[in-house]
Amino acid sequence: MSFDSLGLSEPLVRAVNELGYTSPTPIQTQAIPAVLNGGDLLAGAQTGTGKTAGFTLPILQRLHSMPAVATGAGKRAVRALILTPTRELAAQVEESVRAYGKYLKLKSTVMFGGVGINPQIGALKSGVDIVVATPGRLLDHMQQKTIDLSHLEILVLDEADRMLDMGFIHDIKRVLAKLPPKRQNLLFSATFSDEIKTLADSLLDSPALIEVARRNTTAETVAQKIHPVDRDKKRELLTHLIKQHNWFQVLVFTRTKHGANRLAEQLTKDGISALAIHGNKSQSARTRALAEFKDGTLQVLVATDIAARGIDIDQLPHVVNFDLPNVPEDYVHRIGRTGRAGATGEAVSLVCVDELQLLKDIEKLIKRPVPQEVIAGFEPDPTAKPEPILRRGQGGGGGGRSPRQSQGAPKRDGAASAKPAQRSTQRPSNGQQKPQGAKPAGNGAQPRRDGQRHDDRPRAVAHESAAAQHAPRKPQSSNPGALLGGGKPRNDAPRGGQPSRSGQRGR
Ligand code: AMP
Repeated sequence: MSFDSLGLSEPLVRAVNELGYTSPTPIQTQAIPAVLNGGDLLAGAQTGTGKTAGFTLPILQRLHSMPAVATGAGKRAVRALILTPTRELAAQVEESVRAYGKYLKLKSTVMFGGVGINPQIGALKSGVDIVVATPGRLLDHMQQKTIDLSHLEILVLDEADRMLDMGFIHDIKRVLAKLPPKRQNLLFSATFSDEIKTLADSLLDSPALIEVARRNTTAETVAQKIHPVDRDKKRELLTHLIKQHNWFQVLVFTRTKHGANRLAEQLTKDGISALAIHGNKSQSARTRALAEFKDGTLQVLVATDIAARGIDIDQLPHVVNFDLPNVPEDYVHRIGRTGRAGATGEAVSLVCVDELQLLKDIEKLIKRPVPQEVIAGFEPDPTAKPEPILRRGQGGGGGGRSPRQSQGAPKRDGAASAKPAQRSTQRPSNGQQKPQGAKPAGNGAQPRRDGQRHDDRPRAVAHESAAAQHAPRKPQSSNPGALLGGGKPRNDAPRGGQPSRSGQRGR
């Protein structure tokens, strides 16, 4: 299968070929013709499947081939709007729009909160065809009447499940209420909770349904591994692994922002260049950390779940769960950062005795056990007793412990009961998908109280702590040797050993 056989024009095929894409990914094979057809689309696709090109390429083609409507001022009108949950994702999607559209005469811009609004107003004034935005900042522009969406033809909700998780539903409804009713709508989501189904139902008209990777399955191209370790040896083990294997571009997840900061500081002290990225960091700090990580000058990026959304780096080789996530679905999202679009990757989790229940939940969700390997010199103490997991103060390898009130049962958002969408492109008959009581788009919109709120920050913060607000989980008093001890100690010494063969693919 080639890109031109999907109906894409030569300038687009040339651009993707130059990026090294030789053949379309499964989501692209299905989404591109569906979007070119002009109908609505409901796509179940996780990040890393190539979904961005799946909607961007046909949008570019449609905008290029359909004559632009001249606005009163004779400038370009915004004809496509892509909404994303986070600033990072918005920036990356717009980068993709530019890259794929480099041989077309279409203009795009990105807008999100946390940065000055004036350059965005300037870009809009000069005329753009495609806007990529986070919902809050878009609403700011709509309120200030600095954006005219009256000529909008195509709307994309990217990572819609995350947008709902982050509390953007009211903003989305307010945006939808102001858009011209006749338009093409594309909704991409990794999961299908009841909320997503309701949104899809109110937004989409007889959509084509596609799904490429089943929800909550992990990519086969990601080698997953658990390293059982004592809680206060995690940081030392991470340093050992990074140095031993000469890992570069390591994305490390911690449960808390404080943990991310502490770990980045400690890794830096260990001689490993590391920065933390999370919702409390300024936009410029986040952008800088991401840029350095992308160009390889920063060895380790330590992130919380929300901050990591949208980080898209080709063939990110290593993902480390320094802490297991409270919500098992986040494990799937996290390790989706590696092994993207067919590349192989490695996802390593450092698991202490406190996290056995979290591990069990994850293995239940992904329907398979994750292989365990004890690293020589870091064997967990078989007599260690589980302790409640901390909300704060963890993340640097122990210390400062106080009882956790917060971490609890994994989120059960109804996704488990959601039926997977059909595998092949097809259109359900009208009304077939409508659940009872679905509201039309725009209903229930509520005025936003803080007109100047930054886009995603308060919500990101809310989300980062949301998982911690579930009912307290009782730690399981399992013996770590019994549950975690399945792996064999490796022969590599804890410090100063020879780089292993796997180290050669570190960069
Ligand atoms: P996405 O799921 O859109 O975040 O894309 C994941 C990664 O796959 C991005 O780094 C893209 O550059 C890359 N990618 C997208 N489509 C292809 C393709 N057809 N072949 C190879 N890489 C691709």
